[in-house]
Amino acid sequence: MDPAVTVTSARDFIPSANVADMQESATIRVSTRAKALRAAGRDIIDLGVGEPDFETPAFIREAATRAIAAGVSKYTATEGILPLREAIAAEATARCAAGDRVEPGDVVVSTGSKQALFNACFVLFGAGDEVLIPTPAWTSYYEMVRLARATPVPVRGDPARGFTVTAEMLARAATPRTRGLMLNSPCNPTGAMYDRAELERIVRLADEQGWWLISDEIYRRLTYAGPATSVLELVENRDRLVLVDGVAKAFAMTGWRIGWAIAPREVARTMTAFQSHVTSNAASVSQHAALAALTEREQGDAAVAGFVTELARRRDDVLRIVGAEPRLSFIEPGGAFYLFVDASAAARGGRSGGDVLAEHLLERHDVAVVPGAAFLTPHWVRASYAAPRPVVMAGFERLVQGFRELAS
Ligand code: PLP
Repeated sequence: MDPAVTVTSARDFIPSANVADMQESATIRVSTRAKALRAAGRDIIDLGVGEPDFETPAFIREAATRAIAAGVSKYTATEGILPLREAIAAEATARCAAGDRVEPGDVVVSTGSKQALFNACFVLFGAGDEVLIPTPAWTSYYEMVRLARATPVPVRGDPARGFTVTAEMLARAATPRTRGLMLNSPCNPTGAMYDRAELERIVRLADEQGWWLISDEIYRRLTYAGPATSVLELVENRDRLVLVDGVAKAFAMTGWRIGWAIAPREVARTMTAFQSHVTSNAASVSQHAALAALTEREQGDAAVAGFVTELARRRDDVLRIVGAEPRLSFIEPGGAFYLFVDASAAARGGRSGGDVLAEHLLERHDVAVVPGAAFLTPHWVRASYAAPRPVVMAGFERLVQGFRELAS
């Protein structure tokens, strides 16, 4: 063995009870596998990714370069620089129901909206609490709730309605231990959007029951069939609302790691205190880049509109390709950049359709998709169209081909 290589292994390592049941993010696992196969020389089309392929707009990168040149290299306030929180608060206030104002003190900037969501779960929920999660949902929600020692309660949506849930479904799933509800519209993995009337009913129910409502609106600006309704437009007061958003998806800034929570002041303070022990502030240069994204409005809006136009084109291509196979059902996405496909016809030997199709596509067709088990819907797969158009089209053609081979 090369003497420069030391192989270490932790002797008798048993993960602590904190993480004993934790699963690695299934979506990240698929991407890692796709990258490894690519590195090994396979020409993999990665439809597993959850990030836009676009480059971050130049005006944002330039703002970051200016910040570096100006010496922005120190810790900032844990909750983020004031101008960024002011910009977030102003943008949110413009969406608020009449009379409400979001103040910078209600905003906590974090290392991605993922951290904002984790902060919220950790601060609001604990042992014995149940948290309703309309399902399928983003894989990390379930783990975050569990890491807070609370119990995620998946509430399965209706496939005929894009897997969205109704207020009645949530009410039926609730118990005296229900403490919160995690909403995501447009939704990862389905791309489905809640209509305003249903959201109103859900918000009212949460308010009546005194539940914490965590509304993850990270895909709010990426929609094709009209704008998504923000929960901010609906709530009469924000006493029990934590709204989560970020720049990652709308501005193609996934790697910059900037997201935020808007929460009642006391909750925001507690989240800040918690974050002060975990990561402190989000990267200072990235905060300045996000500030440009939010405040250079004309350029920001034009960039987002350009991304949406391109994503809409790809979505139309994808719908045409999968629509050509009558046995393939899917959710028609109103937002985000995922197609959620019913693979139950591929099930065999006791294995779910989603697992069988995802494995078949990777091994036989060099296409990576995420098996629906990651979102607690094992007979489905999620395929992303956030890749260049020819790649997306080739990938979905192979998906249909692979499905035909298994379903016939
Ligand atoms: N929320 C949802 C629904 C997501 O799909 C993702 C990323 O895939 C995130 C949050 C995390 O985004 P960020 O990059 O801001 O941490």
